[in-house]
Amino acid sequence: MTTATTSIARGKYHIWTVGCQMNQADSQRIQTLLDEMGWEEASMEQANLVILNTCSVRKAPEEKAHNQLAQLKHAKSKRSDLLVALMGCMIGSQKTIDELSKRYPHIDLFMKVEQADILPRFLAERWPPIAGAGCLDIEFMPPDEPIPLEPIERILPTFATSTNTNGKRTVLPMAITPKMGERTAHYPTRIEPAKASPGAWLPVVLGCNKVCTYCIVPYRRGRERSRPVDELVTEAASLVGKGAKELTLLGQTVEAYGLDLPGKPDLAELMAHLSEIDGLERIRFMTSYPRHMNDSMIERMAALPKVCEHVNIPVQAGDDELLRRMKRGYTLDEYRDRISRLRALWPGVSLSTDIIVGFCGESEQEFQHTLDLLEEIRFDVVHVAAYSVRPGTVAARWEDDVPLAEKKRRLHAVEEVQARIAFELNQPLVGKVEEVLVEETNDTHGRQQWKGRNRTNKLVFFPQPAGQEGETGEYGATAVEAKAAARCIQPGDLVEVQVERATAWSLQGCIVAL
Ligand code: SAM
Repeated sequence: MTTATTSIARGKYHIWTVGCQMNQADSQRIQTLLDEMGWEEASMEQANLVILNTCSVRKAPEEKAHNQLAQLKHAKSKRSDLLVALMGCMIGSQKTIDELSKRYPHIDLFMKVEQADILPRFLAERWPPIAGAGCLDIEFMPPDEPIPLEPIERILPTFATSTNTNGKRTVLPMAITPKMGERTAHYPTRIEPAKASPGAWLPVVLGCNKVCTYCIVPYRRGRERSRPVDELVTEAASLVGKGAKELTLLGQTVEAYGLDLPGKPDLAELMAHLSEIDGLERIRFMTSYPRHMNDSMIERMAALPKVCEHVNIPVQAGDDELLRRMKRGYTLDEYRDRISRLRALWPGVSLSTDIIVGFCGESEQEFQHTLDLLEEIRFDVVHVAAYSVRPGTVAARWEDDVPLAEKKRRLHAVEEVQARIAFELNQPLVGKVEEVLVEETNDTHGRQQWKGRNRTNKLVFFPQPAGQEGETGEYGATAVEAKAAARCIQPGDLVEVQVERATAWSLQGCIVAL
């Protein structure tokens, strides 16, 4: 009979992350778990455990993961002390796992972030210094064995068998796919980032219930599951205690927050609770969906001083027929109406959006309508992507008939229009004083600058005040600069910066108050 090992020999790990903020937030948690187990962060070449946290939203990040897997296969053929784990959007159903494990038999673990608590037991079984000497059958747990972290029953992972390095059949955790309407998967709440940067992420609703025809996310991230308010408030307070000043609440459709919880607390209600946390200065949220954001929600968010005036609300296309083919669930008029309500109810709100160009059958005229919409709405920021076929989605059955060169032309056309609009929108900020949360230093052209964001999410750069970088500051030391020098600016400081110059992408200025 095998026994569970409580002290797991330490090794080195490397987490490779691509994709969105959600993936980065997930990687931070996994990192904390491994750090707490005494594992040491190392380069990919030196690591004993390499975790690839993958993204499937477009083909390019998936190809990067395939390249990494090919290199790791080579590395594994030479090393017996290397374990490979895969997480993120490339894992979806059992079918995708089966396909991946057939193609890459050297993957030792397929893991969803909800299953992070399986890592200690996985390592206890598979990490070479102890494997074989006392292997752990993870189906067997002695009755008095303390169950690590989240109760296993709540997580309900499904299991599959695999062969370990000793040729022994072992049981490995596989992906969980919650059934329709069933909340089985919970975020590993007891594992939170050990350190918090001034701007930290707080995933509030996992998964996505939309069925946009181009998008792989719902198939890979499962149905929407909101995290309870009290759990989020506790975690947020803890992140603030570790140095976070700004929290970005994450969800694929963040206004869907709470729809699956008892009493249906909505996003604005959650924000009201979070606003009470001392030391938390700013709250942001993304990604918004026009149909879930109602007037009452906007009014209540706008009334909370800590909630920043910025909404990322993807439109994806500026043509009704395209929106219908994308199955976005709204018409252009409904989208326009939401934008005008946002602007009416939330003075000074800045808007960003996502656009896909070259979707199946997108005609020149339909594309022109998207450019027209950009001129009409005048977003502050536009994230534009060329349509990328995602196998398994509805649109993958349709012809990807816009040639790559044409997709690129349309992408550049969007960028060009948007660069002009953003430049124009930023000019009135010259001369204004903006509250900036300092994020990090930025060394360009041999000059140290600070980088941060104003409340409307615009990037702001300002030079190191005189004195702080040595006796001879670049500028004459004003009273504020002398104070800044005496107090030394730190990431996480809220400072006031007078804007002196504005481009399409950022604002440059000078610190006027600390
Ligand atoms: N849930 C959000 C929404 O669509 O409103 C964002 C989800 S997705 C992770 C982020 C962005 O990736 C989308 O807004 C979309 O512009 C882009 N995207 C998703 N699927 C794509 C595809 N197949 N090809 C190109 N871009 C895609």
